[in-house]
Amino acid sequence: MQLNNRTYQIQDVNVLDIADEFGLPLYVYDADKIIEKIGLLRSSFSGVNLKIKYAAKALTNISILKLMRQQGVEMDSVSVNEARMGMLAGFAPGQIMFTPSGVSFEEIREAVDLGLQLNVDSLPLLEWVGQTYGSQVAVSIRINPHISEGGNIKISTGHADSKFGVSILQRDAIRELTEKYQIPVSGLHIHTGSDFKNADAFLRGADILFDLAADYPNLTFIDFGSGFKVAYKEGDHVTDVAELGRKVSAAFQNFCQQYGRDIELWFEPGKFLVSESGHLLVKTNIVKENPTRTFVAVDSGLNHLIRPMMYDAYHDIKNISNPSVADETPVEKTYNVVGYICETDTFATDRSLPEVKPGDVLSFENAGAYGFSMASNYNARFRPAEVLVYEGRPYLIRQRETFDDLLRGQVDIPALNLEVIEQ
Ligand SMILES: *Cc1c(COP(=O)(O)O)cnc(C)c1O
Repeated sequence: MQLNNRTYQIQDVNVLDIADEFGLPLYVYDADKIIEKIGLLRSSFSGVNLKIKYAAKALTNISILKLMRQQGVEMDSVSVNEARMGMLAGFAPGQIMFTPSGVSFEEIREAVDLGLQLNVDSLPLLEWVGQTYGSQVAVSIRINPHISEGGNIKISTGHADSKFGVSILQRDAIRELTEKYQIPVSGLHIHTGSDFKNADAFLRGADILFDLAADYPNLTFIDFGSGFKVAYKEGDHVTDVAELGRKVSAAFQNFCQQYGRDIELWFEPGKFLVSESGHLLVKTNIVKENPTRTFVAVDSGLNHLIRPMMYDAYHDIKNISNPSVADETPVEKTYNVVGYICETDTFATDRSLPEVKPGDVLSFENAGAYGFSMASNYNARFRPAEVLVYEGRPYLIRQRETFDDLLRGQVDIPALNLEVIEQ
């Protein structure tokens, strides 16, 4: 979103016009930003056989999935339903990685029947796959490398500190099972989930997989998951993708040489690809001056964007109706920006913003990832509509909900005879 001639614009579209046309609250995504991030990732890993698997849980709208596919990006799913959405968007099942955690064997069976690439997250699942499919289904294995945030390797000596993956300490057990059942292992995977602090910390995880790869001569890929840190505010430490690309590519080329074959290097970014593209536009309902604080209450809440309440996430806020223009001293005031949910749903505390008046349109920035996809109907509120700005035009890619949506699936049973009982 840029400020041009005193209006905020996405591509060349005035954001206030988008708000007028589609109503508020509204998620707006900038396709160009997504395409830019894909390009950045590709150019940073130019020397290797890179595959990008978009982690669809970050933002699962079918038009976004189609945009990814158009751009040559494939998909990572964590549920069979996500994978089905990917198939509706045109992905071949084989292009979709399925990385579930602790799901039922029935769901695994569905995934295998669909033809997804199965990523195994536990020894019991590996055993089940062996018993059920023998050598018929190739899997990849999700390894927990026991790397803590900040890059220190922390080999846990008793219990693993994360529910995800098979501990690297169980390396022998993995091999016993794959040999016992002749399970083809086509890939190795890590996704530590923590934001990379720097490329070197990440390389330690890579080294663990390179070492493990010696056990599996038929790999076609190594998947390094995600963990790309993005900036939510100015000055945030971010992953230097160019540096990461240089270092990881060099290490990977080295590895391929030792391994004896060029295999594919996969990443599964979610946040990195879509966070910056998304904006949650809301309208100011009330500006309430209490003795100690001024509250700005907007027509949204943790039902639409839960990250501030769930992760203490910081989202930059722009007053679209009262842009702060560089050559003028903006009249800034300090606000607590809150939602309309009957819970404490604070978006921002003591935030300095160009003066906010009732009716002003605010934008929560970096709202593309884990925004709509974590939205709910709590307080019987509608989830926002979604708009994609593509080639200079805004398109509605999800309708605003209606009252019928809230009732869908509820069963009102007359036979229960829930009439008022005379007291
Ligand atoms: C959530 C998830 C990702 C994406 O993580 P981001 O931080 O959004 O990039 C990648 N891989 C797996 C297996 C995930 O569960």
